[in-house]
Amino acid sequence: MCELERKLRIVVKVGTSSLTRVDGSRNLRNMELLARVLSDLKGMGHEIILVSSGAIGMGAGKLGMTARPSQLRMKQAAAAVGQCEMMHLYDKFFGEYGQTVAQVLLTDDDVKDPFRQAHLSGTFAALLGLGVIPVVNENDSVSAAEIETGDRKVLGDNDTLSAIVAGLCRADLLIILSDIDGLYDSDPRQNPDAKLIPRVTEIDESVYDMAGGVGSRWGTGGMVTKLEAARVANRLGIDMVLTNSNRMDALYDIAEGKDVGTRFVAAR
Ligand code: GLU
Repeated sequence: MCELERKLRIVVKVGTSSLTRVDGSRNLRNMELLARVLSDLKGMGHEIILVSSGAIGMGAGKLGMTARPSQLRMKQAAAAVGQCEMMHLYDKFFGEYGQTVAQVLLTDDDVKDPFRQAHLSGTFAALLGLGVIPVVNENDSVSAAEIETGDRKVLGDNDTLSAIVAGLCRADLLIILSDIDGLYDSDPRQNPDAKLIPRVTEIDESVYDMAGGVGSRWGTGGMVTKLEAARVANRLGIDMVLTNSNRMDALYDIAEGKDVGTRFVAAR
């Protein structure tokens, strides 16, 4: 079967910066576009799991906060409000294209414990079997306490979560939609001659150097968490594509195996 005809189980991760604007307002255009393209891909026979950030950002906006809260309990409260708002919008937009969505909220304990893992894999399999699009986020109102103390950090960013979810769902492909086109050989915001790397087959020190080394942050999630996600996915035998959320149509090309953004290729 040629790549064009292959039906894939795809995990798509989208970040807060794609779903909200700097002033805290909701980016309805992006959410609508995302729902349309993912619904269409599902109509073409692919299975879709969406990992979506945005709970804290949307909650802060809805609560009239002028900036993202810094206090932990305020972040958790904002997440509780924003998660509700976000699912309402996904339900509405996907519903317009005839799709049913389901909310799955996870903590680090859920993805570490083998019994919970087994239940989760079963739930994902059942939802996909029913033709539902699961929408996954970290359960920030419960788990952020552990994340922020750094004591038991497993999740804490949805890039890593999306790679873990890809493993739990036995996905064929993970796509991370970000505010950057892919991995560059140097920071494109500093260096206009920076070149996009279309394929990475081994995530070694030289790749981390291209990302600016540990701790650098380009965009909201940072390139380093993208590389960590790619490592987790690749170790599980799953390719990961990193691309820009400002070209949602590129998701069709990615599903067809075409080169878009940077593909981190798992060893076969
Ligand atoms: N779970 C957080 C939220 O929904 C976002 C975490 C991340 O950006 O990686 O706001």
